Amino acid sequence: MLLSTLYSKMSKDYYKTLGVEKNASKDEIKQAFRKLAHEHHPDKGGDEAKFKEANEAYQVLGDETKRAQYDQFGSSFDGAGGFPGGAGGFSGFNGQGVNFEDLGDIFGDLFGGGFGGGGRGRARSARGSDIAVDVRLSFKESVFGVEKEIQITKNNTCERCAGIGGEPGTKMKTCKACDGSGMETTVQRTMFGNVQRQTACSVCAGRGEEPETKCTTCHGIGLQHGRSTLRVDIPSGVENGMKIRVRSQGESVGAQGDAGDLYLIVHVEADPRFHREGNDIIVHKKIGFTQAALGDVVDVDTVDGKVKLKVPVGIQPGDKLKLRGKGVQTSRGRGDQIVVIQIVTPKKLSKKEKKLLEELDLRE
Ligand SMILES: [Zn+2]
Ligand SMILES: [Zn+2]
Repeated sequence: MLLSTLYSKMSKDYYKTLGVEKNASKDEIKQAFRKLAHEHHPDKGGDEAKFKEANEAYQVLGDETKRAQYDQFGSSFDGAGGFPGGAGGFSGFNGQGVNFEDLGDIFGDLFGGGFGGGGRGRARSARGSDIAVDVRLSFKESVFGVEKEIQITKNNTCERCAGIGGEPGTKMKTCKACDGSGMETTVQRTMFGNVQRQTACSVCAGRGEEPETKCTTCHGIGLQHGRSTLRVDIPSGVENGMKIRVRSQGESVGAQGDAGDLYLIVHVEADPRFHREGNDIIVHKKIGFTQAALGDVVDVDTVDGKVKLKVPVGIQPGDKLKLRGKGVQTSRGRGDQIVVIQIVTPKKLSKKEKKLLEELDLRE
């Protein structure tokens, strides 16, 4: 599956969700969120889906780092802590008002199981583990984006039985572990006391029945361990250490629930010529002092190849010249390349050079 397809599907307009402008201040975002949270609070008969949406948006826009990443890449990107994924990202509230900083995600868990989607009391299914894979990019690939082929060894859903564990066409019989109820009761300790939770039976995955004949490929597990190849579009502008989430490409749990996510950990190889600062690319260029004094046109490396740069008369060491639009590609256009001028003083002089310089007698 291509990341770009996921990207467009997953990208959400968090600004629109909160009803604020793209340049809204931190306070405006906070206020907008609090207003929505009060309005849609599920405890007060509000719309839980809207409440969660607002919360998800605030988790990102309320955090400067995540907001900056979101502005550049949209909601498919993850900061170090990861963007909240819908229901899982709920950050909690208390009985009186809304307090989003203090409580953990205890209520998120309760919401996910109790109020979420199918309603109270429905069994919650398992979810596969996430996988992290390193992806190495050249500096240029990180600037322009690239399609990469990734090999992952993981549990995939068994193709023969679609993860159910039975031979195709086999009859199902009542699960002994749960006596056909499909439920398992667990007790979870929270700061409000013990909360009893019904989860899906781990033997039959909540179906209440088991196949009479087990699948011959996976021996009833519903999984096949193996190597798979995935092509992913790495968008332009990614930085070293960034994590990209590819949904549902992690470990499978067969028919018991959703697969985990795949995280691509970006490693950008250093390039001795280029150094990145935000969306600008910094390059150091050495010139001789005659060129500095008289001006010149010099060749400069850019990620697009060599370009001619006009050095003005009387340039000073450390002066910066800008090559507009030669920086990092982002969704909003390209950054610039900044050329920092270094002036080289000759270490050895011929007799003639020495004589000429002495005649010049350039002193401060
Ligand atoms: Zn069962
Ligand atoms: Zn199978």
